[in-house]
Amino acid sequence: MRLNGMRRFVRSVFFPKVLNFKSGFKYSVLLGIGGNIGDSKRRFDRLFRLLQDDKRINLVESSQILVNEAFGFREQADFYNAVILIQTSLSARALLKVTLNLERRFRRVRSFKNAPRTLDVDILYFSGRNRNDSRLTLPHKGAEERLSVILPLGVMKMGFKRSRFGN
Ligand code: ADP
Ligand code: MG
Repeated sequence: MRLNGMRRFVRSVFFPKVLNFKSGFKYSVLLGIGGNIGDSKRRFDRLFRLLQDDKRINLVESSQILVNEAFGFREQADFYNAVILIQTSLSARALLKVTLNLERRFRRVRSFKNAPRTLDVDILYFSGRNRNDSRLTLPHKGAEERLSVILPLGVMKMGFKRSRFGN
């Protein structure tokens, strides 16, 4: 692990926030978000509100925001990363549609691999499911090793501690 890539934790209006688990949802899901164009904190807050307003989703907790060095293509601005714990009854495939739509809404343009981006939304863990097909890999390939996931998750209140991902 490249700990030297880490710069600092920052906060925004909705990161971090601790809300609650609710009954009536089938799955617990950890989303990873990232961006390095423009005002990432503000964009994360807007995303938080969109998720909170979506009836298909219960937002449980958001982490602090980690500022870290870009990996892959290095000559670009620092990345802002956070994780969000949600509950949903949507299937993994249906949730992917939602997250891809959110990325589109924030006008992400895919230019080249590891290129700068306004908003990346990844499904890191989906209730302990394993899956690997052309559209979806679960857990997400970066979930277990990326500092941008591990560090924000480590400072969460509920996160893994309630081991909700095994269900
Ligand atoms: P990365 O997130 O590794 O930086 P991209 O965001 O560019 O890469 O990759 C997006 C593509 O990866 C999506 O089109 C989606 O179909 C696919 N994908 C596979 N597994 C997942 C996942 N668990 N979460 C989000 N996207 C995924
Ligand atoms: Mg992605």
